[in-house]
Amino acid sequence: MDLSLPYRLQNLIGGSFLPPAEDRWIDILNPATGIVTGALPDSTAADVAAAVSAAQAAFPSWSVLPAEERFRILNRIAALIEEHQEELAIAETNDNGKPLWLSRRVDIPRASANFRFFATGIMHFAGESHSMEDKAINYTLRQPLGVVGCISPWNLPLYLFTWKIAPALAAGNCVVAKPSEVTPATAYLLGRICVEAGLPAGVLNILHGTGPSCGEAIVAHPAIKAISFTGSTRAGARIASIAAPVFKKLSLELGGKNPNIIFADCDWEKMMTTTIQSSFANQGQICLCGSRILVEESIYARFKTDFLQRVADLTVGDPMDAGTKQGALVSRVHFDKVMAGIERARQEGGNVLCGGKPVHPEGRCAGGYFIEPTVIEGLGPHCDTNTEEIFGPVVTLQPFRTTEEALQLANAGQYGLSATIWTQDISRANQVGAKLEAGIVWINCWLLRDLRTPFGGTRNSGVGREGGWEALRFFTEAKNICVEL
Ligand code: NAD
Repeated sequence: MDLSLPYRLQNLIGGSFLPPAEDRWIDILNPATGIVTGALPDSTAADVAAAVSAAQAAFPSWSVLPAEERFRILNRIAALIEEHQEELAIAETNDNGKPLWLSRRVDIPRASANFRFFATGIMHFAGESHSMEDKAINYTLRQPLGVVGCISPWNLPLYLFTWKIAPALAAGNCVVAKPSEVTPATAYLLGRICVEAGLPAGVLNILHGTGPSCGEAIVAHPAIKAISFTGSTRAGARIASIAAPVFKKLSLELGGKNPNIIFADCDWEKMMTTTIQSSFANQGQICLCGSRILVEESIYARFKTDFLQRVADLTVGDPMDAGTKQGALVSRVHFDKVMAGIERARQEGGNVLCGGKPVHPEGRCAGGYFIEPTVIEGLGPHCDTNTEEIFGPVVTLQPFRTTEEALQLANAGQYGLSATIWTQDISRANQVGAKLEAGIVWINCWLLRDLRTPFGGTRNSGVGREGGWEALRFFTEAKNICVEL
């Protein structure tokens, strides 16, 4: 299969690749060069209506296909993603600006793993049964919902797109999916792979376009029974306001401002190596990055010195170079937002210890959107810098004296996605873990993911959980049947 990208991407509707109904297009830019590389459909409600009709037509036969058959097709998709890893990784890096080695090592393998995980998962998924002794027996059917909508962001494009689509399809639903308009390429290529893998026409429809035009039309469409959304808290609130009054099922994975709590008794080397990653991996554009580093006062000075030395070694530059540690930010708009966040930190009285400026690499990346890894100290827990998501290569340092104070700092603000704890005192680690307002806590590690575990946040970080059975339950309706004996 030839997986080259056309200049103009098309929507996948009912098994065919089609231009948008209104023939409007949006530029695709490579953020590492600032150069336009193609165009994507600016889809509207008309495209959404066509995709929903195709999905509705496909649903009766897809939903009754034996789980084993769905397993075979999804597993074939996983295999084709693996086979075409290199083309997909290059497309991801050209769209997103992340280092090519990261796309190769993390993004694309995980997309394949998502399909394989839920392909096999559906073979083991079962309903429950509740016996009322000799009176009756209840059994609970878990039936697919029908047509569902999946909307994903630009930071881990294919990784998060497939994290939603795979369980939705495995559970027997038909899908209308929209990737971010900023990073559409790998979603388009996934459509080509699905057709090649023999996924029946209409089972997965992939639309390209903006949130306000295409995304909202998906959310508002009356035949779409559920929305699985990952993205900003602002867009999540807007989606909830449209979906809640019509009682659509919602899974919202939103922003974060995650604390990284470092106690004096931690395993220093492991903590330092991992903290560099949890601060700056993917240019800090991972919802799980630890952007607020809380350090026990007795080791604060040592931490600062060692951390700044290691940050200085992070090479920022062409994502295609093997030696690059930090690539480009995803877009001009996002670059401006992160730079404004750094400026706001200065105005709030923050001391920029390193970074804080754009980077202008020589050669083909001279027009790209690069920012130095930035470390800021001297700000309290309630300022905007420490409560608003920046979502870039920017972290703050705050000292704490006691475990109680560490918890207060960690739980400040309105987000509650993830947290990391570094200590050798496992009893303290577990106590702190239990008191953190977060959906995910890592102790002495970061981003160690078992796809069976519940994934999601509390407070302004979202509603619902993805992963494992949680995802298969979200994408099914529980129907209890009670039989009197
Ligand atoms: P975004 O909210 O701007 O966009 C996400 C997706 O939603 C895109 O496909 C966009 O087109 C669409 N969209 C935007 N407005 C919409 C609307 N009104 N109706 C329907 N769809 C709409 O987010 P982004 O800038 O692409 O991604 C960055 C954000 O995503 C950050 O806040 C980050 O924390 C969050 N994120 C969260 C998780 C998580 O698992 N909790 C994972 C990754 C990213």
